[in-house]
Amino acid sequence: MRRAGRIAKVPPYLFAEIDRKRREAVARGVDVISLGIGDPDLPTPEFIVERLTREARDPSTHRYPPYQGTADFRRAVALYYSQRFGVSLDPETEVIALIGSKEGLAHLTWAFVDPGDAALVTDPGYPVYGIHTLLAGGQVIPLPLSPDNDFLPDLDAVPEEARERATVMFLCYPNNPTAGTADLEFFARAVEFARRHDILLVHDSAYVEVTFDGYEAPSVLQVEGAREVAVEFGSLSKPFNMTGWRLGYAVGSRQAIEALGIVKTNTDSGQFEAIQRAGVEALTNPLSREFISGMRAVYQRRRDLALGTLLKLGCPVRLPRGSFYIWAPVPTGHTSAGFATHVLERAGVIVTPGSAYGDRGEGYFRVSLTLPDERLEEAFQRLAACVNW
Ligand SMILES: *Cc1c(COP(=O)(O)O)cnc(C)c1O
Repeated sequence: MRRAGRIAKVPPYLFAEIDRKRREAVARGVDVISLGIGDPDLPTPEFIVERLTREARDPSTHRYPPYQGTADFRRAVALYYSQRFGVSLDPETEVIALIGSKEGLAHLTWAFVDPGDAALVTDPGYPVYGIHTLLAGGQVIPLPLSPDNDFLPDLDAVPEEARERATVMFLCYPNNPTAGTADLEFFARAVEFARRHDILLVHDSAYVEVTFDGYEAPSVLQVEGAREVAVEFGSLSKPFNMTGWRLGYAVGSRQAIEALGIVKTNTDSGQFEAIQRAGVEALTNPLSREFISGMRAVYQRRRDLALGTLLKLGCPVRLPRGSFYIWAPVPTGHTSAGFATHVLERAGVIVTPGSAYGDRGEGYFRVSLTLPDERLEEAFQRLAACVNW
């Protein structure tokens, strides 16, 4: 059997070692607490589940759905954009439904990266952007993120040659994994950069609703003219605890949406129509804004709990305004992977090594706040007993 060369380009799975140690610990009877995976612990709101169960009984949902998503779902996304961001979208040409935004981000790369092209990808970053660039035969050019620049890339520092070869640039705010946030002024600079260099700006807004202290994260499409050069990916996973449902969307540039549609039409056949109808409920029911404020309060309480402990231990961590992650430097003398192993062996707690998100993630670890308060509290008590900065 000869596997395609592109498979060998996928970097080794950094969690493999941790996973092996986790299984060993569990086998020894250790009550392992995982702060590793960003997957909400709370259930999907009842009114959304209710709508799905009702629609699943309607046989008209049992057939292949329209490729670009149902007209109702696309209209619901457009309505959400106009109410939440004051951005008007044409549901016919500027919105497409996705089987989760991860699916769309992966397929978009195939529509925009040829062998020899490059993608500007933040480092650290969500691995999908870079890995699909490599699979498509492109080159990844990292845009370093550091706390000195509030986890925003320095676009002026992108070399001339990189600007020429890049066909896409991936950004994500509120950011996974650094929890950095971006304001409209930064987005305006990114849009200008994309326009000047004929690069498609891809903004991943998975955490746009997961924000704290009254902060409301913007959409890149609020920037004048952004829809000509930018496409924004959204997901129902994080705001509505719907990670298992697989429903998201892309909005913005018609050319980008059309190109993504060409890849998708030839790959998948869309999400179950009953799920799309439940997605309409999530995006348009007035109960949703109430649900989202409750969700924000839950994560804000957990953030404060986690941050309180880390600060007491002397960890120089920043107060995040968005995402449900805490991104913090490991104590001196540790590597990211070494620290993750240390806390698993000493405390039975799993954290994600920052190096899993790129070279610039080395020296950091990520904690996800997606587990019940008592478990989070217990995890941080155990950490406090075996680490300090
Ligand atoms: C969770 C996550 C997504 C994927 O969400 P799905 O819609 O569930 O595929 C996309 N981007 C980032 C940065 C994420 O953390």
